[in-house]
Amino acid sequence: MKKILITGGAGFIGSHVVRRFVNQYPEYQIFNLDALTYAGNLENIADIEKEPNYTFVKGDIVDAPFLDALFEEHQFDGVLHLAAESHVDRSITDPMAFVKTNVIGTVNLLNAAKAIWHGNYEGKRFYHISTDEVYGSLGAEGLFTETTAYDPNSPYSASKASSDHFVRAYGETYGFPYVLTNCSNNYGPFHFPEKLIPLFINNIIQNKPLPVYGDGKYTRDWLFVEDHAVAIDLVFHKGKNHDTYNIGGFNEWQNIDLVKLLCKIMDEKLGRTEGTSVELISYVKDRPGHDLRYAIDANKINKELGWKPSVTFEQGLERTINWYLENENWLNNVTSGAYASYYEKQYS
Ligand code: NAD
Repeated sequence: MKKILITGGAGFIGSHVVRRFVNQYPEYQIFNLDALTYAGNLENIADIEKEPNYTFVKGDIVDAPFLDALFEEHQFDGVLHLAAESHVDRSITDPMAFVKTNVIGTVNLLNAAKAIWHGNYEGKRFYHISTDEVYGSLGAEGLFTETTAYDPNSPYSASKASSDHFVRAYGETYGFPYVLTNCSNNYGPFHFPEKLIPLFINNIIQNKPLPVYGDGKYTRDWLFVEDHAVAIDLVFHKGKNHDTYNIGGFNEWQNIDLVKLLCKIMDEKLGRTEGTSVELISYVKDRPGHDLRYAIDANKINKELGWKPSVTFEQGLERTINWYLENENWLNNVTSGAYASYYEKQYS
């Protein structure tokens, strides 16, 4: 494969994937297509922007004629599709934005690839990156496997479930070559501070309240973003055509325990007396349709492709917190302007 299109490469996970592909595969031409919404930030990939095998393209995947022309011009061999509206809270206030980007945008990409590949799928691959939230909520027991029935509860997860179905349907209907992964919650550097871990790191630094939904008993599995990027690399190159893999960290935490752990580490880092940051916890009205528990069985990717997380949660959190403390400028830039007014609306 020579020409690879990565969508959403200015976002959180996409930036790690673009960096990995540009650095690991100098023989590939990597194109990063991103609309630079509030979540897209070219600062996330400033370190690789001058690499000879890297090109940034600003554009919207909802714009089908633009996509068709881009595919026609560059004749991509592979696509890694990460562009999405990704924040559940935003999907509750504006579901249509999620339908447009996540559903229509994905179908536009499938069509653009299908049009240039003309049924000649040798050496071609469309990789759709998705979430474990499509499976809905677990009770206290059990894990999501690749055969768990879809049961999405939020407009975000419904839009991702729909896009997953379209990708599979193109595989069945047209023999279109795809792989699909469903991953648990990621954390790490360059994470936009509307999501739990970076939001709370930022708020602790600024001595602002830590808004915990409901009783804080919601449970999530957490994976360090660079380990996700390694898994994506593996699945793109070695994953079976027309197959799905679950990716997870084997690392479940109740929100409230995670928040208390963050408070403890941050007190140490900031030289505050232990117990200072915990005082910032403030329980807020629950999110509607909130899923109780997500947990991933990642044994298939482990057995078939030999992938497992390389860092423990303690190591990953340490790296993440250090990164935020050392990159105050990045944090200040993304928490000003549009983000600041959104934040006020949500939490004040
Ligand atoms: P993100 O919100 O940080 O980044 C999304 C990127 O997509 C941004 O750069 C944004 O500018 C771009 N984008 C949005 N709409 C676009 C459009 N119409 N056209 C072109 N670009 C557009 O998201 P993320 O957290 O990096 O997630 C990336 C992917 O991984 C998503 O598909 C998400 O569903 C999936 N995922 C995320 C997580 C997680 O924990 N963050 C877990 C599992 C799966």
